[in-house]
Order: sequence, then structure tokens, then C-alpha cells
Amino acid sequence: MLSTDFKNELAKFRRVPLAHLPTPLEELTQLTRLLEGPHILIKRDDCSGLAMGGNKARKLEFLIADALDRGFDTIVTGGAIQSNHCRQTIAAATKNGLRCILVLTPSWIQGQNGNLLLDKILGAEIVLTNEGQPWEAKYAEIEPDILAQGKKPYVIPTGGSNALGSLGYVEMINELLTQCEQINRQVNYIVSASGSGGTQAGMVAGNKLNGSPLKVIGISVGRKKEDSVARISSVAEEVGTLLNQSITLNEHDVEVLDAYKGGGYGVPTEEGLDEIQRIARLEGIILDPIYTGKAMAALADLVKNGRFDKSDTVVFLHTGGTPALFPYGYQRWITKG
Ligand SMILES: *Cc1c(COP(=O)(O)O)cnc(C)c1O
Repeated sequence: MLSTDFKNELAKFRRVPLAHLPTPLEELTQLTRLLEGPHILIKRDDCSGLAMGGNKARKLEFLIADALDRGFDTIVTGGAIQSNHCRQTIAAATKNGLRCILVLTPSWIQGQNGNLLLDKILGAEIVLTNEGQPWEAKYAEIEPDILAQGKKPYVIPTGGSNALGSLGYVEMINELLTQCEQINRQVNYIVSASGSGGTQAGMVAGNKLNGSPLKVIGISVGRKKEDSVARISSVAEEVGTLLNQSITLNEHDVEVLDAYKGGGYGVPTEEGLDEIQRIARLEGIILDPIYTGKAMAALADLVKNGRFDKSDTVVFLHTGGTPALFPYGYQRWITKG
């Protein structure tokens, strides 16, 4: 299996241009010095553009192209009330002349700020799920209405995390390997927040297909490790199928740590909030309370526990999410100083 084979296959998938690429790869000089561990870089997918950035932009390039090519005119997707995925999806759909319906789970998070505010500015049609209702059940409920209006709904799974969306993160690995070559640096690890798993699945597949020894460590922000590993493995294998390659994963290929998720999805941890403040004050970079704060706290803890050699280079993937800072817990910094 030659790596050019999969690159040719990947190039056959049309993408609508949505993301500002390549995203920067930057040094975290202050953090590297402070932790006295491996060399730490940051891949700035928070700077991907598309209505304030984040990792969903790369996935949506493939998903929106598919919807358009197959004649769909209405995008339906779902997520939490502060979903970054939903915010970037409404932006991507609108830019491409598609109607977009967002199915959101109501939550204890009060107010109309953050991603919800952005969804509304972007003109999303918002439907709330009933208590405990899965998004899929609500999609089925609203589908007859959409069809009755003569529209064709295209459902994007939450997080854009099917194999097609994950191609965006195969592409990101290609981009990262090129950037590493340019700066003449061998990278050993990527640390990334992991939610619905498509980002990690794409990266795992991308590393396999490139024959790269780069190891991805996913930090679960809510799911149990076993659930995440199963989902990610199956999507990574489907990515192989899409690209006409066979991807065989071993037990070391998909690593997810679930010790940093605290109270679960959408519930910030003390460590994550402290980390947001530390990285802001060290590096001038803003993380978020739901994903990247937890993931960066995990990275710091892994360094402390000796997971990496001093000679290693670790890339932290900044997946975005900063709009969620505003509805969640900012009072902490205002009152604590
Ligand atoms: C969606 C999201 C993730 C997780 O990506 P998955 O592909 O769902 O695992 C990480 N960080 C941010 C900010 C996100 O919005």
C-alpha cells in the first residue's frame, strides 16, 4: 500500500472551501520551559475560520460537498445547546445556499450567549429535543414536515463524526506532516480532546495511511474510554474503506484517556478552568471549558507523570470551542482576579 494511493483516493472527494488552511503550527515556548518536559507545539485549528473557528470546519468541507453533489437542500444536525459543531454547520450550510435546522438539547446552561447567540445571529432554525430524547428521534419527528415542504433533508451526525467527515482529519495529518518537514522536526505525539470521535478517527487513519509513527492520545471530555475506543476504531476502519485501503488497527492505535472528563460532557473541571487561565497568561492563547481546557490539563498531567521523554515533541491540537467561554463560568475569573 503506497501512501500516494490513498492521497489519490482522498483527492477524489470534493470539498467546498470553508476552512482557512493550513492552520498555523506554533511553538508553546513558555509552557515547554515551565513543564520541563517534552517540546510542545500547538496546531491552531481554532484558527480555521468559519464563524469563529474550530475542528468542525475541516469535516464540513467534505460533508457539505456531499450534500450539494447529491441534491440535498436542507441540512439537519444536532448537538448540545452550546455545540460548536452546530454553530459551524449553520455557517457552512448558509454559505453554500442550504437551509439548516439545528436540533439542540436543552440544558442547565442559562441564557442566549456563546454558541447559541452565534447560531441565532447566523439565522439557524432551532428545534429543541424533549427531555432525554436522542437527536435521531427528533430528526425522525421533524422529517415528515420537511419532506411535506418539498425539501430534501441531509442529516449530519452529531460532531460530523462519520467516515466522510473524518476525512478532514486525514487531511490534517497530511498537512501537519508537511509542516513538520518544513521545520525539520519529528513529532511523536498529538494530544487532542475527543468527543464524538471523528477527529481522532481521522487522525488515527491518517497516521496509518502515511505509515507515520505519530501517536494520538485522545482526551475524553465525557464518554467512557471503552465507548470512545470502539467508536473511533470503527470510524477509522470505515475511513480506510472510503479510501479503498484496508486499515487494520491494533490495541495501541486508539488510545483514549477518560480520567480528565470530571462530571462529564459539558461540565467544566477545576483543573480545566485553571489550565485555561494558565495558558492564557503564559502563551496568550484562549482555550475553552468543555474540550481544550480539559485536554490541556491532561497534557500537563501526562508530562508530570512522565508519559513523555524530554526528547519527544508533542503537538497539542487546539480544536476551538472558545465561544463556550461566555455562557460558562466566566464569573470565576472576574471574581478571583
Ligand atoms: C467537537 C469538538 C471536539 C471533539 O471532536 P470530535 O471529533 O467530536 O471528537 C473537540 N474540541 C472542540 C472545541 C469541539 O467543538
